[in-house]
This record gives sequence, structure tokens and C-alpha cells, in this order.
Amino acid sequence: MKSAQQIASEVRSGVTTAIGELTTSLRAIRERNDELHVFLYVDEEGAIEAAARIDERVGRGDDVGPLAGVPIALKDNLCQTGIPTTCSSRILEGWRPPYSATVIDRLMAAGAVPVGKTNLDEFAMGSSTENSAFGPTRNPLDPSRVPGGSSGGSAAAVAADMTPIALGSDTGGSIRQPAALCGLVGMKPTYGLVSRYGLIAFASSLDQIGPFAKNVTDAALLLEAIAGHDPMDSTSLPEPSPSLVAHVNDGVAGQRIALVRELVEGADDDVVASVYRAVETLRDAGATIVELSIPELHLGLSAYYLIAPAEASSNLARYDGVRYGLRVDADDVAAMNEATRTAGFGDEVKRRIIVGTYALSAGYYDAYYGQALKVRTQMIAAFKRAYQQADLLIGATTPSVAFTFGSKTKDPMAMYLNDVFTIPTNLAGEAAVSVPFGTGEAELPIGVQLLGPGRSEARLFAAARVLEIAEGRS
Ligand code: GLN
Repeated sequence: MKSAQQIASEVRSGVTTAIGELTTSLRAIRERNDELHVFLYVDEEGAIEAAARIDERVGRGDDVGPLAGVPIALKDNLCQTGIPTTCSSRILEGWRPPYSATVIDRLMAAGAVPVGKTNLDEFAMGSSTENSAFGPTRNPLDPSRVPGGSSGGSAAAVAADMTPIALGSDTGGSIRQPAALCGLVGMKPTYGLVSRYGLIAFASSLDQIGPFAKNVTDAALLLEAIAGHDPMDSTSLPEPSPSLVAHVNDGVAGQRIALVRELVEGADDDVVASVYRAVETLRDAGATIVELSIPELHLGLSAYYLIAPAEASSNLARYDGVRYGLRVDADDVAAMNEATRTAGFGDEVKRRIIVGTYALSAGYYDAYYGQALKVRTQMIAAFKRAYQQADLLIGATTPSVAFTFGSKTKDPMAMYLNDVFTIPTNLAGEAAVSVPFGTGEAELPIGVQLLGPGRSEARLFAAARVLEIAEGRS
């Protein structure tokens, strides 16, 4: 499939049409969606309308934007006016949002063509899409394995060449981990860089929307189109969207990059070997390599599994059978609430709500939630110290390549451990990118993770691009 950049430039210059590109995308979806279960909803009509409008405007000589005619897949926790938005949960079945997320408005303004909504772990809680109420997504590279999660559908859409780019959300790793498992570039931007208006909340202090693409330039193009201040999100950073595409070829000469011991510890040998090879590649490209230990990173998983469920228990209180989607009738309101939530939420969501409610309850608040917040503060301080010694950090994205269905569903802790390397960035509100680098077991892709301080996206993409060029990709 053509890159997003190529499609946009061809559509803008009239070499190809948005309708033509959309047709290619819809054909690919039709061919493999039944097998892979990537899209929960394909908005063929809306996409055709949007594409036709782009072509008409190109015909009139309008500037249709940097994503002109580029088909894009959207994780199904992003609200789009009139389009079913489920979060892969029975509790939202049939609900159609009355408004669109800011990112979708920005995509449309940039000329992109949203084609549909992709599968995820219910309410973005999970690492494999096996928690979707509508059945899992298969990894296009090996359908016996998971695509990762929670944004597994968006990753699979790009990996299966259904769309060149997609949006996901990352609360603890849900963009970077599936990107790694599907051989894609995936970025978790700095907290506040991308508006969360219209993203259905999981853990509001951690959630960020970000891009999936087959290459660094497309990921930068997409992030540039959606980033920048939005008055509708009170946590949105005040600055406009940064310039990213212009810097992808800046390289790493003179950059100090730290290999972090805790970000490879416990990873499979094939993954560790890829990280070491990436380090050598960056050194050859002119970076100064240092080695660091950040012991606080060990505390990330425990803090996350108190903070994220605590916020989720509060955010998910709104699904009461009154305002959205599902309602299971009963004798009185309390019984109706209970019956609705019992029927509407899956096991993992219930587990998080119970843990979160407990952690916030009187008598336990200080012992659990309060402690976790202190750990979070320590983590932020530890990263700050690390960034006095290095411009960027490097490690693994995930402990292993894509795993097989069912291999971690019996043991929540084994599943949670998938995000051990990605969670610290969310707790710190910083940025990180996963870039494919080498292959491991069964020839499956491995993701190397580059981490940076807040607003370091341009630098991260430039370093990721050095690795992508070394691998012979574009
Ligand atoms: N896998 C992690 C979790 O289950 C992260 C999910 C995410 O980033 N949305 O919470």
C-alpha cells in the first residue's frame, strides 16, 4: 500500500483521486475483515461522501490539506457524530455520539477520510484485544497470535494494509505495544499535546491519543495534523502543533541516548538483542551512548494498577443505564443500575472498577491511592534526573513478540506485565515512540522504544527514523 504522504501528494496534484484511494482501502477491508475482525463498523457511505468532497475541492483548485484523501482507521473509543461508538463494550451498544472528537474534526480539516471504527479491549483495558465484548482481533502477520492491545484493531488495520494510518489511544502502552507486535511505528505523545475532547475516558490523567503508521514520516504527518491546543480540553497544552515532518531527517548526531537497564530487564533474548543492535546503530549515526539505571521504573506497574483503576472507577460511573446505550430494566433505579452494569461490563472492566473503588474508599485512600501518587511523583523526578544525563532513553517496547491467543488470559498479572516498559512514560506524562527493529521468534517483528521528555516528539521521530533507515525501510 502507498504511504499516507504519497497518497496525499498524489491526491493534491490530481495524479490520483480520494475516491480511488478509498476504493483500494475498502477492498482490502472487505477481503480480510471477516478473518481478522479489525473493524467493528465501516462507514462506507460517510467515507465516500468525504472522499468525493475532497476530489471536488481539488478540482476547484482548493488546498485540501496535508492528509488529502488519506483513508484512516479510528479506534472505537473516539466519538464521531452519528457513528456507533462502543468502546468494545455491551454497555455502549447502539449509542451514537452527538458530537465528534476534536481529533476527528482536525483529520477532516486536513483532508483525511475516516473509514470506520476499530476493535479494542473493552474501554481500552487490556493488551491483546481479547477483552473486546465483540471478539478479538487477529494479528495480520500471524492470525494465530494477538495484535496487542488495547488499540489492536487500529494496529491491525495498518498492518493489513486496510488503511495507511490509524489513531489509537495510549493509557499505559496501548499504542506502542500493538505497534511493536504488528511491526508498526506508534507514538504516545506528551500528555496534553493532543486534545482528549471526544475520547471516551479510561484514566484521564494518563490517556493520550496518538498515531499508528508503517513509517516514521507518516506517523509524524498524522500527529502534526491532530496536535495543538484545544480550548475544549482543559488539560490541553497552550502551544500550537509542533513542526514534526520537517525534522524527521534531523538524525541523532550529537544526541546523548541512554540505554536504560530497567527497560530491557526481563525481556526475551531476541528482544534484548534488537535493542542492543539499535543502540549500536544510533552510535554509528553519531549519538553518544550512555548506560543508566532508573530503579524507580520498577514501581511503575504497581502505581499504574492503582491510579488507572481509581480513575476508571470514577469515569465509568456514568454508565448507569440512564444516559447511554444499554438499559436492563428492574423494579427500582438502584436495581436497574446494578442489572445494567452487571450485564453491560465484561470481567476485566469489573475487576478494574472493583480495585479502583476499593483503592479510593475511606480508610484505604492514603494506603493505596495516596501511595501510588507519591510513587508517580518519584517517577517524574527520576525521569527528570535521567534527562539531565541524556536527551533520549532507549529500551524495549514489550518483553516479547506477539503471543498466541489465550496464552495470558487466565492470569491477569501475566497480561499486565506486557506494559512494564511502556507504563512509566504515561505516569510521567512524557512522550515515547515504538519503532520496528529486527525480528525475533517466528520471524515476528520486534519494537524498540525511544523515550523523551515532554514535547520531544520531533527528536524521537528523528531517532526512530535513523533506525528505520538502517533497516532499509524507506
Ligand atoms: N494494557 C494496559 C491496561 O490494560 C494499558 C491499556 C491502555 O494503554 N489503554 O490498562
